[in-house]
Amino acid sequence: KYFDGREKPTNPRMCNAQKSIRTNDIDNVGRTSRHHTFFEMLGNFSIGDYFRDEVIPWATELLFDEKWFGFPKDKIYITYYPEDVDTFNKWIENGVDKTHLIPLSGNFWEIGEGPCGPDTEIFFDRGEKYDPENLGIKMLQEDMDNERYIEIWNIVFSQFNSVTNLKRDEYPELPSKNIDTGSGLERLACIFQETETNYESDLFMPMIKYLEEKTGIEYAGQMAFKVIVDHIRSITFALSDGATFGNSGRGYVLRRILRRAVRYGKKLNINEPFLYKMVNIVVQNMGGFYSYLGEKQSIVEKIIKTEEETFLRTLENGEKKLNEIILASKKAGSSVVSGADTFLLYDTFGFPLELTEEIASEAGFGVDIEGFKDELNKQKQRARAARNDIQSMNSQNEDYLNYKEESSFVGYDKLSCEAKVIGIFKDGKKVESCDKDAVVVVD
Ligand code: ATP
Ligand code: MG
Repeated sequence: KYFDGREKPTNPRMCNAQKSIRTNDIDNVGRTSRHHTFFEMLGNFSIGDYFRDEVIPWATELLFDEKWFGFPKDKIYITYYPEDVDTFNKWIENGVDKTHLIPLSGNFWEIGEGPCGPDTEIFFDRGEKYDPENLGIKMLQEDMDNERYIEIWNIVFSQFNSVTNLKRDEYPELPSKNIDTGSGLERLACIFQETETNYESDLFMPMIKYLEEKTGIEYAGQMAFKVIVDHIRSITFALSDGATFGNSGRGYVLRRILRRAVRYGKKLNINEPFLYKMVNIVVQNMGGFYSYLGEKQSIVEKIIKTEEETFLRTLENGEKKLNEIILASKKAGSSVVSGADTFLLYDTFGFPLELTEEIASEAGFGVDIEGFKDELNKQKQRARAARNDIQSMNSQNEDYLNYKEESSFVGYDKLSCEAKVIGIFKDGKKVESCDKDAVVVVD
């Protein structure tokens, strides 16, 4: 709203540390040195205040001045949008060598309609050690995923309004020109502390040490450790911020994160609930700034412990079921777990495909993956149909949907309380009383 001018902030200059959850990076967690599902993004913002002419000299000062980051000039590479000549010139004016400035057509920040614009991204060169094939800045020029040049900061010149059916060079300018930047704290920690990956920085090491002591297994960069310490931060923050585990939407995303962590725990021979014991370390490490974590700690621990217990039981039942299936198939002369059975395990027992494959292969069995995918698609279609039903229902539920009385949820720390009925809805219509099948709202 600030960016497109619909609303005016009390101050046009802002800076912050944003808690960020990016579950779309989940498959990178533990594989790259720099991706997390939860991280802190440091940012500074201008709403129609300072712009390119100010922000580039300031960025130069922050990056290179001994008083601040003090990076050597040859360690920093900067990409920019090829058409954005102003940005190129500004960096040159501020003493960045042109061999360290790389045009990239992907440097345009845009998500659908609305504010958008070119960006300039700042990379730290961690050196040849992380470049086994000696490809050098070719990796940046060709936008290859790599461990040598780490993107530490992105500055977006949010100056255009993206309009469908218009070409980029036809986008109208925004009424005010804005700056939006983002820099990952964990990546900065990795670079300043000169660690192999983000995980050996002091943001994660206390949790890794805990796991080493608990399991007697040496960390040595193992992915299982990384996944667990990453995921427990996401879970702790999401729950502390009011999310809950569930079977759909964000609740399901959160549930999958926990299950993934539990499974990686099994790879370290941990077969009982353990994640909940790590909440304490997250609170110790992050609670100085996010003081509410301490207040939520005990309830968050309880929620996680229960969820872990449930999932471990699920896994146990699933394994039993799978062994039965394998035995029955053997008798029937088959050596494949069918798509339907694999789906049953997945859907009803919460048993991930890889686990089915793993256990099946131990018994000399294959898995019908195509059949499994068919079942999965069928389920998606069922879900879509169900959603449509809900939508058509909503149009009839107007009273209920428009109902705005104050009602507060106390279930986070109470299992019972006294409350007053403040609304009754029968088939979506507000009624004064009813005898059965109605929605009741309490204060
Ligand atoms: P990358 O290409 O390395 O995934 P990105 O282009 O997705 O980075 P941005 O969307 O520009 O990154 O986010 C701004 C900053 O936030 C990045 O410069 C980086 O420092 C940090 N960042 C982005 N994604 C992650 C992540 N998954 N984990 C940790 N830090 C991240
Ligand atoms: Mg990314």
